[in-house]
This record gives sequence, structure tokens and C-alpha cells, in this order.
Amino acid sequence: MSRIVYVNGEYVPEHEAKVSVFDRGFLMADGVYEVTSVLDGKLVDFAGHAARLDRSLSELGMESPVSTDELLSIHRELVARNAVEEGMVYLQITRGAPPERDFAFPDPVAIRPTLVLFTQAKPGLADSPVAKTGIKVISIEDIRWGRRDIKTVQLLYPSMGKMMAKKAGADDAWMVEDGMVTEGTSNNAYIVTGNRIVTRHLGNEILAGITRAAVLRFAAEAQMEVEERAFTIDEAKAADEAFITSATTFVMPVVQIDGVPLGDGAPGPVTRRLREIYIEESRKAAV
Ligand code: PMP
Repeated sequence: MSRIVYVNGEYVPEHEAKVSVFDRGFLMADGVYEVTSVLDGKLVDFAGHAARLDRSLSELGMESPVSTDELLSIHRELVARNAVEEGMVYLQITRGAPPERDFAFPDPVAIRPTLVLFTQAKPGLADSPVAKTGIKVISIEDIRWGRRDIKTVQLLYPSMGKMMAKKAGADDAWMVEDGMVTEGTSNNAYIVTGNRIVTRHLGNEILAGITRAAVLRFAAEAQMEVEERAFTIDEAKAADEAFITSATTFVMPVVQIDGVPLGDGAPGPVTRRLREIYIEESRKAAV
């Protein structure tokens, strides 16, 4: 079944959707994106994603072509038209398609941004079999640019990292800079020792995950200790548990780091509990 996607004000079948070859998203990765998950046909933490989108845009001197209310309507319309029960909505805004390729930004009044949204159905997102066994990660050097707090579409190195992990027989990679873990290729990274959860503090070095913010709130409400600081891969290997968070994986256990099993090699109690709470609360608050 062909999807209906959204491109610059129109809902069109996916094979009819078109973006210019001059689009700066295509030529220069000059664009930002968001991924919002869908549970029970509703959007999880739309407000958080919309707020981060506004911030990413303003950091790059761009403006959304539509209001937040309109964005919410477009998200809902796409979910309905494509009958998505569990899955995600992908949104991308680029600096548009000026007639000539030029490093300088085009005049924002003359060249309107490109807005594209599409859905991906992922049945079994909440009741994921992988979450029952956990994932394996490897560590790799973090050689991305210095503004990882902006959610740009420059995803080549994270893609390469994912491929390095696959080649090593693992599922994902945690990136390390100056000896400290920054984050996963497309997720935030956490370790757990006893009842204490440690995850890197916010800054330009990592993306402020929307799932991260919710999970840290739920952890505090459940009387778990939370420490926001950098940690090394050696500290992670010695931890009782580890996990990642993102909009599409929620809370996902990590059971092995660079071949070293954590604890007994199975998802731990803190991680399992946090996944349960996150999914339950997200379902309740979804719009
Ligand atoms: N860090 C990076 C580098 C990511 O790409 C993502 C997900 N896109 C995250 C963290 C998690 O963010 P969120 O919880 O908002 O999906």
C-alpha cells in the first residue's frame, strides 16, 4: 500500500511527491528534522518535539513555514490517512531550493523553506521482542561536528557508526569523545549502578532527547537517583545495567558493551521498570 506523504502544503501519494534537486537539504544537509512516535494512533510528546524543532530552527536562522498548531494538524492528518496505530511521523524542514547552488544562505523571504512529513508504521513498537533481550553496543570515536544539540539532517557519521556496529556483530555504537561517552548514534546513553542512573549532562555535545527529558522525570518520580554527568566506557562496562532512549526505541536495554556483558547479561530491573513506566505514561499523555 502506497503512503500519503506531505510536501509543502499538499498531501500526495509517495511516488508523486517531489523535492527540487536544488534543495539545500539535498545539496548541503541544510535542514533539521524531528521524529515523533505514534502509540494507539496518537502522538507521543508532540509538544516536546515541536519545542525542540523551534530551537533547532532558530539556532540555524530558519523559520518554520507553518505554525505549531498547523504542524500538529498535519501530523494527525498523516496518521489518520495512513491508518498508523504504532509507528512514527518524520518531519523535515530545509532552507529551501534557491535557483543557484551557493554556500551563502538564500534570502528567506524569496526562498521559502521546504517542509516534508511522512509516516512509518512499526507494529510491535511498544511490545518489542528486542526490548526483552536487549541490544549490544560497541564504542567508537565521536567525530561529529560541535553542535549536536541542533537536530540537523547531517547523519552520515551516525549511519557509519551503525554500520561499524553491525560489522562487529553488535546493534549500535556509543560514541566517545575525550574519553567520555557522548551518546548513541541515534539515542541517549545511560548506565545504572544500584538504584542510580547516570547519563551525560546536556550541552552542545549531545542532542537533548525528548525521551530523555521524560525518562529522567519519571525516574525521579519513582524515587530513583539520577546523576547528569559524563562517564567513561570502562565505568559503563562495570555498571549493573545500561540502556538507551529515543522516540522510536523508548527505553531499550543494553546488555553488552564492546563484548563485555553487563550484570547477568539480561535486561536489568531498573531498565525494565523505566520502560514500563515510560510506555504507560506516554500512552496516557499521547495526543
Ligand atoms: N541523540 C541523537 C544523536 C539522536 O539522533 C536522537 C534521536 N534522533 C536522540 C539522541 C534521542 O532523541 P529523542 O529522544 O528526542 O528521540
